[in-house]
Amino acid sequence: MAESTIVSNTANLEKYLKLPQGGKIIAEYVWIDGSNGVRSKCKTLNKKPSSVKDLPEWNFDGSSTGQAPGHDSDVYLRPVSFYPDPFRLGDNILVMCETWGADGKPNPYNFRRDAAVIMEAHAKHEFWFGLEQEYTLLDFHGWPYGWPKNGFPAPQGPYYCGVGTGKVFCRDIVESHYKACLYAGINISGTNAEVMPAQWEYQVGPCEGIDLGDQLWMSRFLLHRVAEEFGAKVTFAPKPIPGDWNGAGLHTNVSSKEMRAEGGMKYIEEAMEKLSKRQIEHMAVYGEDNQLRMTGKHETSSFDKFTWGVANRGSSVRVPRACAQEGKGYFEDRRPASNADPYQITGIIVETLCGKVEG
Ligand code: ADP
Ligand code: MN
Ligand code: MN
Ligand code: MN
Ligand code: MN
Repeated sequence: MAESTIVSNTANLEKYLKLPQGGKIIAEYVWIDGSNGVRSKCKTLNKKPSSVKDLPEWNFDGSSTGQAPGHDSDVYLRPVSFYPDPFRLGDNILVMCETWGADGKPNPYNFRRDAAVIMEAHAKHEFWFGLEQEYTLLDFHGWPYGWPKNGFPAPQGPYYCGVGTGKVFCRDIVESHYKACLYAGINISGTNAEVMPAQWEYQVGPCEGIDLGDQLWMSRFLLHRVAEEFGAKVTFAPKPIPGDWNGAGLHTNVSSKEMRAEGGMKYIEEAMEKLSKRQIEHMAVYGEDNQLRMTGKHETSSFDKFTWGVANRGSSVRVPRACAQEGKGYFEDRRPASNADPYQITGIIVETLCGKVEG
């Protein structure tokens, strides 16, 4: 398909977006599909919901999303949280959903369920998470935006937190996504240009418990949706370009109530001891193709060995210098890849630190 067979006409769209809706609400139901992507479809509601309980369960054809066989294709959508819709404005909303089977069991791609059970069981520790989502913007043909066709830009150096033409690409998308997240009530804590050109980062958090996964997935939906309007593709691949280019991660900052309190360093050290015993289990859910990124180079640690250190960006876990000095705070698990599932990451961390829970 040619790049621009269909030209979107935003001036025309504006006209329709402003039309009154006769008191009805548009609810866009968002869910995670069978290939780590997001899907959505829209439902008209008669009135604005005041809590998630007011939102009806819904369903979709799971055989079309790689989530169910054709002979038993209904997958159910159960709303878990909702957000103001930054595209339609007004009372319209975006609804984050869990996926469930007709047999009353979570869909195989519903990783939220187990995580929610673990978070609930250990709620008294008040776990906070802040995730640093790295990603790369690609053009229609799948090549990083702004890179020479059939070639490479000058080596890494000027791009990280870069300012100016030739140093950063697609700031308009990043800016739009930032504002869309704020409008939607996502706890986005910042954004920066990354080491590889056309690579960016934003952070979501701190959020408590299961809320982090919900908000991060909704922020990914918003990113895909905003980039679509600009004709760019988003990739969360951990090593989008082989060679001497930084990969993309999902650094996971973690603290419990005890770690944040006076003398919390003791609990952080205990956590390091527990994490060091479950390297394989963690890496199994820290994202696909992560071994391509975790080479021990480009600010990564090695795939199969757990290490930790104060201010060390080459270790599996970094304790920020300021936390070590204050003797309390949080730690940064640098292992997760950019494409990892935040429900699985936060779930296994709480499981490792606090113990398994049968769901
Ligand atoms: P880095 O220095 O590694 O680039 P960032 O500033 O990009 O770190 O991201 C740090 C993240 O950690 C932010 O999302 C922030 O909200 C989060 N964070 C800060 N304090 C805590 C805490 N006590 N517990 C969990 N997350 C935290
Ligand atoms: Mn149909
Ligand atoms: Mn960061
Ligand atoms: Mn980064
Ligand atoms: Mn980091």
